[in-house]
Amino acid sequence: MFCSCLGEQADHQHEQLVYTSKLGVRTTVDEPLSASQAIEVLQAGNRRFVQCDVKAGGLGPDMRRALASHGQRPVATVIGCADSRCPVEQLFDARPGDIFVLRNAGNTCTHAEGSMVGSVEYSVLNLETKMILVLGHTGCGAIMGATKQFMERSAQESTDQSTEASESEQPPQPGSCKSRSTLLGLLDALVPVAEQACVELGGGSTEEIAAHAVKVNVWRTINFLLSYSLIIREKVASGEVGLQGAIYDMSSGAVEFLGKSPKQAQLLNYDGHVVPSMGGPVRQVS
Ligand SMILES: [Zn+2]
Repeated sequence: MFCSCLGEQADHQHEQLVYTSKLGVRTTVDEPLSASQAIEVLQAGNRRFVQCDVKAGGLGPDMRRALASHGQRPVATVIGCADSRCPVEQLFDARPGDIFVLRNAGNTCTHAEGSMVGSVEYSVLNLETKMILVLGHTGCGAIMGATKQFMERSAQESTDQSTEASESEQPPQPGSCKSRSTLLGLLDALVPVAEQACVELGGGSTEEIAAHAVKVNVWRTINFLLSYSLIIREKVASGEVGLQGAIYDMSSGAVEFLGKSPKQAQLLNYDGHVVPSMGGPVRQVS
């Protein structure tokens, strides 16, 4: 909850900024928040979550009717992991109507890319969200699974240098229809994240590489959005919309805000309009 009524301001004097919503919940009667305001609201909500001082609570009948009658005006769009331990609204102490949330295993755009990118475009164009936050988390099972695949393949490749493997024994390649299940296909697409993390670390244990891969994957998802969405790219280039990364620490409850992608300036020069699964060109986005 981002301070639903003026009367509650006294309860939040420790917060630097207080944003009110005219109907007790955020709706289209409220003005959009800027990217910087949105980040401050998310940070304040996470502080309350960490301090066990959450204010969101439940919705009364008037608030539910307001949401149903007056449409959406969320503070931000968040792409998070589907992990049940990472409920986006709760860790930002938010209410229905506060955050436009997209989640899948691994907070990735590489699968269901059209629905993820298209949904972000919808939130930016139609709901006027000015902040897009890609939120990874510590201990991500999807990233660990991909890292284990990467390590197994690396070990297999070392073995193959002395023993030629038959075609039927080759592991499925990223994006290949040879994946033995949709889950393996999803992990295949995250293997390059683990590979890049390994390169950046100069090697390491599976756990060390997986931990670093969480951040690599956040940048990869952001870079994917910038590479394949003209709408997002133009909004970010104009300064109207911010696109930042963050990592949720499951143990402490704190969200570390990472800022914008190191490749943002470079990727703003891309010309992609459509994701590959819908006919757009394939690019290296990591
Ligand atoms: Zn996860």
